[in-house]
Formats: sequence, structure tokens, C-alpha cells
Amino acid sequence: MTADPAPVRGRVAFLGLGTMGAAMAANLARAGFEVVGWNRTLGRAPELADLGVVMAETPAEAVGGADVAVICVSDTPDVEAVLFAPGGVVEGARPDTLIIDCSTIAPSGSWDFAARLAERGLRMVDAPVSGGSEGARNATLTIFVGGDAADVEHARPVLAAMGRTITHVGPIGAGQAVKAVNQVILAGTYLGVAEGIVLAIKAGLDVEQVVGALGGGAAQSWVLANRSGRMLDNDYPLGFKVSLHRKDLAIALDLAAQLGAVLPVSALAAQLETGLVASGHGDDDMSALARAIRALSALDA
Ligand code: NAP
Repeated sequence: MTADPAPVRGRVAFLGLGTMGAAMAANLARAGFEVVGWNRTLGRAPELADLGVVMAETPAEAVGGADVAVICVSDTPDVEAVLFAPGGVVEGARPDTLIIDCSTIAPSGSWDFAARLAERGLRMVDAPVSGGSEGARNATLTIFVGGDAADVEHARPVLAAMGRTITHVGPIGAGQAVKAVNQVILAGTYLGVAEGIVLAIKAGLDVEQVVGALGGGAAQSWVLANRSGRMLDNDYPLGFKVSLHRKDLAIALDLAAQLGAVLPVSALAAQLETGLVASGHGDDDMSALARAIRALSALDA
């Protein structure tokens, strides 16, 4: 005997079915939402069909009849295109359709888009996510939400199907600002772990033993526990692309410059990541920052 399908909890349009979006849309379908998907490039995420996700040809078509539209695309101009280009969200959305932008973009982009949507009677919250592709697959994302309290409450059941820790951090754009803080802290953590691993290798230490020993002390971190092995092996299978973190640091450094905040470690990480992208490593996992530190120490000569 098979279990009854989960009851339909409302229709969600999901726009952008990349690494993150495909996994997030799948979790919405599993949670009982009726999901209509759209992706710029046809044929991406075919596995969603098995979960009952129907594909639309344009964002406008996908949002027709949807209670909520979730966007998860690469960068600020890409969100603008999904919303406002011909065939975009604004051509198909009902006035009561709430737009949830889960992309990581500039806070100024969120302010601009929310204001332009409001002129058309549409509402938006920014809800960038953290937790990587594993978090997207396992519905354990950490989500920082900016927007009006009523809109955030409207969004919460949808967000709760994709993530575990959902925090309303302030008005529109505040989610993106918190995400920028997150990415700045990650820059320092990855660089610090990479330097420590290179020093351990140069000192002839048993690096795995070092990582285990440090795990109980103040240097403990998720990056040390989960990414130091890649840095030791000098092999960086994908979790989070260097090029996407480079994009996020551009957002953070721009915000910092506007506010008079000085972020020397992030600026250094951005330079090293620019070099990694230029030398063909943009699609490596972000732990490839160790590739740059290893090279400076002539480890791989
Ligand atoms: P991805 O696998 O590279 O997918 C990007 C998606 O954006 C694809 O569906 C792509 O469509 C779409 N897209 C890009 N430009 C577009 C445009 N102009 N118009 C319409 N669609 C467009 O990236 P991802 O890893 O899923 O990341 C998506 C967002 O989540 C990014 O903002 C990223 O920073 C953020 N994020 C990622 C992670 C992670 O671990 N990967 C973690 C946290 C947050 P096509 O298929 O047509 O190219």
C-alpha cells in the first residue's frame, strides 16, 4: 500500500533550476506544494518531473496562478531579467503573488527591484541562503530574510520547506546585507585554514592528526572539519564555486566602500579568487583558495 500524496499547500513558481534551485524546488514538491518550474536553458533538472513539477516556457507563464514565486539565479542583473524582461514575472503575477528572491545579489538591487515591483502592486522579500548544495538537497539551509513582517510570515511556510534556520533580519535588502557578512567571514575562515594547512605540510606534520587535534580547540570550524582534506589533497570537487564567492565578495566590498568599512582580508581573498578564475579554476570549490596559498609556498612546484 502506498502512502497518500501530501496535500497541496498552494502553488509555487520556481524560477532558476541550477544547483541550488533544482534541489530547493524538489523539496517544495516533496513538502506538498504544487510547483511550476522555469529555467532559462531548457532541459535542466529533468528529475523534477518525477516529483510532479511542471515546466513553464517563461517566468510570466510560471507565475500565472501562483501564490508565491521563488527566484534563485546567479547575480543582480539576472534577477532583474527574470522580473522585468519580456516574458518576466511582472507580466504574469497576480497582485497577491509574493516574490521571494533566494539569489545572492547586491542589497541595492533588492531595494531597487522591490520599489519597482511596489509601483505595480507587487511585494517581494529577499531571502538569500547559506549551507551549500548539501543544505539545499537536505532542506537544511540557513535563510536570512529581509522584508515587511507580514510578507515574511507569508513566505515562512515556503522557506521552512527548504531550510531549517530562518531569521527575519530587517527590512528589504537586510537579508542580502547579512549574506554579505556571512561571505566576508567565510573569506577569512577559508584563508586561515588554507594557511594553517600549508604551514603544517611544510613543518612535516601529520596533517590529519593536526586537524583532529585542533578540532577540540579554539581553531575549530566547519571549514577546518570539512574542507581541510581537500586542501591537503590539493583537489577541490565542487561544493560552492570560487566564481560565485568572488561575485559575493564584490557585493560585500562594494557595500563596505559605501559604508566606510575596511575589509583587508576580503580584499586579499578577492584578489586570489580573481587569479583562480583567470587561471581556469572558477568552477573549483571555494577551498581552492588553498591552491593559491600552496603555490605561494612553492608546495606544488
Ligand atoms: P548555478 O548552478 O550556476 O545556477 C544558476 C542559475 O541561474 C541557473 O538556473 C541559470 O540558468 C540561472 N541564470 C543565470 N543567469 C540568468 C539570467 N540572466 N536569466 C535567467 N536565469 C539565469 O548557481 P547556484 O549554485 O544554483 O546559485 C544560485 C544562487 O544561489 C546564486 O546567487 C549563488 O550565489 C547562491 N548560492 C549558491 C550556493 C552554492 O553552494 N552553490 C550557496 C548559497 C547561495 P541557466 O541554466 O540557463 O544557466
